[in-house]
Amino acid sequence: MKLINEDQYKFPIVKFTYNAYNKILDLINATNLEIAWLGVVTEIEPGEYLVIDILVYPQIVDATNVESDDDKYPQWLMDVPNNTFNKLRLQGHSHVDMHVSPSANDKQNVRDFITQIQVNDYYIFMIINKDEDIHMTIVDKRQNVIFQDNEIEIELPEKVNSWADRDIEKYVSRRPVKVRRSLNNDLIDNHGNIWEVNK
Ligand SMILES: [Zn+2]
Repeated sequence: MKLINEDQYKFPIVKFTYNAYNKILDLINATNLEIAWLGVVTEIEPGEYLVIDILVYPQIVDATNVESDDDKYPQWLMDVPNNTFNKLRLQGHSHVDMHVSPSANDKQNVRDFITQIQVNDYYIFMIINKDEDIHMTIVDKRQNVIFQDNEIEIELPEKVNSWADRDIEKYVSRRPVKVRRSLNNDLIDNHGNIWEVNK
């Protein structure tokens, strides 16, 4: 395995469904712990990944560390339906309010995990904080490379159709400012104040 930043590789794209990304935001904003999750991922085309859901697994956390709960995790994993289990290709965790660069533990976790990834497979590691800074690492065993950080294009879903957007659209209108247009194209309000036209 090697770290690369060269032209001969097509850099990967990671996209999220609205549902998956908002579940992540809900989760990290609900706690100040370094909570972690697994992601259900499909590969739309080679090197283009879509995260379609996330699952919270049994874990033991404190403010700066997270590990799976060894007593409960194996059973939890067995209870995941097969077609979901087969698409688990992402580990994510929150750095809460801290920067998102991988800690020494995070890097060791990736190294330890590399041997568990099949030779024709890939795996995505994601760190996010409450400012929505995101750091990703993708181990691609098919090309035998690791992509990191700005080698990975991240596409977030547009924030549409939330109840707030819908209700603002439906009920809230901005009070119109009464102006008359002056000859030199400035706007003058009722009190005779002139506002420059901002273009
Ligand atoms: Zn971390």
